[in-house]
Amino acid sequence: MKGERDVKRIYLDNNATTAVRPEVLQGMLPFFCEAFGNPSSVHWAGSQVSPAIEKARGQVAQLLNCQPTEIVFTACGSEGDNFALKGTVDVLREKGNHIITTAVEHPAVLDTCRFLEKKGVEITYLPVDGEGRLDLDLLERSITPRTILISVMWANNETGVVFPIHEIGVVARRHKVRFFCDAVQAVGRLPVDVQKAQVDLLSLSGHKIGAPKGVGALFVRKGNPLTPLIHGGHQERRRRAGTHNVPGIVGLGIACQKAMDELSFVPGRMEPLRECLQSGLLTLVPEIKVNGASAPRLPNTLNLCFAGIEGEALLLHLDIAGIAASSGSACTSDDHGMSHVLEAMGVDPLLGQSSVRFSLGRDTVAEDIDRVLEVVPGVVQKLRDMSPFWEGRACRRAS
Ligand SMILES: *Cc1c(COP(=O)(O)O)cnc(C)c1O
Repeated sequence: MKGERDVKRIYLDNNATTAVRPEVLQGMLPFFCEAFGNPSSVHWAGSQVSPAIEKARGQVAQLLNCQPTEIVFTACGSEGDNFALKGTVDVLREKGNHIITTAVEHPAVLDTCRFLEKKGVEITYLPVDGEGRLDLDLLERSITPRTILISVMWANNETGVVFPIHEIGVVARRHKVRFFCDAVQAVGRLPVDVQKAQVDLLSLSGHKIGAPKGVGALFVRKGNPLTPLIHGGHQERRRRAGTHNVPGIVGLGIACQKAMDELSFVPGRMEPLRECLQSGLLTLVPEIKVNGASAPRLPNTLNLCFAGIEGEALLLHLDIAGIAASSGSACTSDDHGMSHVLEAMGVDPLLGQSSVRFSLGRDTVAEDIDRVLEVVPGVVQKLRDMSPFWEGRACRRAS
């Protein structure tokens, strides 16, 4: 990127990860060198840090509206997803072996389901419509006497499409089936109240909400035991062994506190910027498609297909201009082919390869959006001019 060193860097990949918030870092710092104890130790060094863990547990619980004892700290969102699924399968194997999930879950859920499938668990992958929406009736009709878990994400990481979690909670309760929700993308962007939503298990991840990487939490409703994923010490009321990541947990607590303080205005600030980006691109670039446009969406996420070009090529050019965005999800960008989410939405495979996701953050400002709107049309035009696909206008119907 020679000569590009002075371009302003614009980060629009907040669904992949977020920067650690300064308040979070400040709160964490004493727990590296000064208060370094193992919270499980009974001596002074341990008792210096155990209250900090419990404070953080309270902060997470408050954000989710649950009891602190219902929070289990994990190492990441993926661990929470694995724990909820594998832990339920093991503990409820007398009751049944059927899980209902969706075709558009995060790989941490989908790959775990495929793993469990190989172990004999029956999995129903619910389809979505062209806008990424679920059919609630189909979900309810899929429940059998052997169903032990419904696993549906709160909001999709690639498209931002939000599922009707409260309605699903009602269905799950009616049929007395456990309900797990991967809320990694929803936390901090939507009100996430585990009582209102009637979820039994819910995962979140620190690095998606301004805490560091390597920490997360799983809400486990009282009366819904799980077989541990990690065996060993007695930490976390024997639900998760392993010495606590004290600074990470402290940081997660502060990030949850901040998310709660800011919920009334930060999402409301992001949404108009996203709308501005969306309408700007729709005006300036012909033949693009917004994925999930008419479904309820997260306020910060915009996923589009740019007919006739490769999403990866567009990302490369945006990167040169200092703009960080993503194709589909960061977790799948090593794989070839299109995103499983867009595939489930019935997006044409060729068009699906042209998808790019912009995900705004709490620091995104109007000037960032203006810059993207300045850069993208020219890059798309250039790439289309070079594209053999575009010549034949194979994707005409894209818009
Ligand atoms: C990022 C993400 C995860 C994984 O969280 P990690 O902490 O990175 O393991 C799970 N689910 C969703 C929806 C995500 O966006």
